[in-house]
Amino acid sequence: MKPGMDRSARNCKGCDDSYTVTEAQIQRILAAPMFQSSERCVDDEVYAARLRECGSCPKLMSGTTCIVCGCIVQISAKYKEKSCPNPNDVRWRSVASH
Ligand code: SF4
Repeated sequence: MKPGMDRSARNCKGCDDSYTVTEAQIQRILAAPMFQSSERCVDDEVYAARLRECGSCPKLMSGTTCIVCGCIVQISAKYKEKSCPNPNDVRWRSVASH
């Protein structure tokens, strides 16, 4: 589990545990070659800073899911071009690629 991530925080009332994405599943996705690309992905420092923001955000559900966009934040925070999708409280922004 990443720092600041509290999986026990809140769960969607409509979904049981079988729909909860696991840390192992996330790590399996993040092991894919596309997430090793420094062209497409932020460095570890930016990634950690983004996840800290998500970890303290009221829009984070179950420690993994952003309820504004439905994305898994551990995955979306990897992409340089992504930004926090909350128009009322943008907590992290895209990083210009070189
Ligand atoms: S609204 Fe932004 S900061 Fe909050 S969980 Fe979603 S991506 Fe993270």
